[in-house]
Amino acid sequence: MIENFDVIIVGGGPAGLAAGLYAARMDLRTVLVDRGPLGGQLHNTELIEDYPGIESILGPELALKMSEHARKFGLDAREYEPVTSIEVDGDEKVVTLDSGGQLRAPALIMAAGGLPRKLDVPGEEELAGRGVSYCAVCDGAFFKNEVLAVVGGGDAALEEGDFLTRYASKVHIIHRRDEFRAQPILQDRARANKKIDFVLNAKVNEIAGDGKVSSIRYERDGEAYELPVGGVFIFVGFTPNSDILKVHVDHDAAGYILTKPDMSTSVEGLWAVGDVRAQLTKQIATAVGDGTTAAVAASAYVSSIRDRERARTASA
Ligand code: NAP
Repeated sequence: MIENFDVIIVGGGPAGLAAGLYAARMDLRTVLVDRGPLGGQLHNTELIEDYPGIESILGPELALKMSEHARKFGLDAREYEPVTSIEVDGDEKVVTLDSGGQLRAPALIMAAGGLPRKLDVPGEEELAGRGVSYCAVCDGAFFKNEVLAVVGGGDAALEEGDFLTRYASKVHIIHRRDEFRAQPILQDRARANKKIDFVLNAKVNEIAGDGKVSSIRYERDGEAYELPVGGVFIFVGFTPNSDILKVHVDHDAAGYILTKPDMSTSVEGLWAVGDVRAQLTKQIATAVGDGTTAAVAASAYVSSIRDRERARTASA
């Protein structure tokens, strides 16, 4: 089945939902599709306390609030609807759905976010779901009173490492350098947590275990070490989900889409917002700003396309 809209939004995290709210509220026929539940990475975040005006809220709760808010203004938001490809056909953007349908619209806002990057060491793949995890909120509770390793030195590693101490008896944060790139407030919090221990300048070589994680092997200053752990949580960054774009869109070396100040890309009628685009930081507040900017720009674009169509019909 082919369905026609003014705006298609691919991805239902904060960036996509903000774009959806604004576009629907501007009376554009807007559809949003996400391969998972609405909210994106909000479901992988325990507590949010850096979204202005909301002192503290659980990630899934903010996901629900944002989805309900956008739907209230008429956004057609569809969950568990994976996209196979995004193509361009003349003025139209064409989204093919895994379920077989097709969505068409002049404007498309790409808000598909990213996936956790892999550490790429032996044992990681084999033991995924058997002690290796990329989501503390999803899996932390399975590790009550266990010793855990967290790999990484960014915001996610320090924040989620701190969160995991709710369950674990000890959390070793293993980082390849002696400096963290995480925000100072997250570093201070982790340092103040007696259950957290830091293993710095350490390169992880292997995650070991027979059917279930039993240890992590790393080297430091040329010496090999083995740390017995019940689980390994990996937070070494994200890879943008830009590969469903079957039309060339300018991007950086890591695959993040390059955007202009109005979030437009090198393809006319295509905007990119949130974690899928190249930018300084990936915050909920910046994602929401991106989505808003793109929706306003897309609205002006849709009007210009509709005016062009009307002029063509009138002169025919
Ligand atoms: P990130 O900021 O890219 O940090 C990735 C970390 O993993 C870095 O410390 C990096 O080490 C390390 N790393 C990368 N590849 C590695 C490898 N092969 N082996 C070992 N270590 C490796 O990623 P993130 O922490 O997932 O955060 C992603 C984005 O989400 C950031 O923009 C962050 O600000 C945002 N975020 C924000 C919050 C919050 O505000 N509360 C929470 C979570 C995430 P090096 O430092 O040596 O490069």
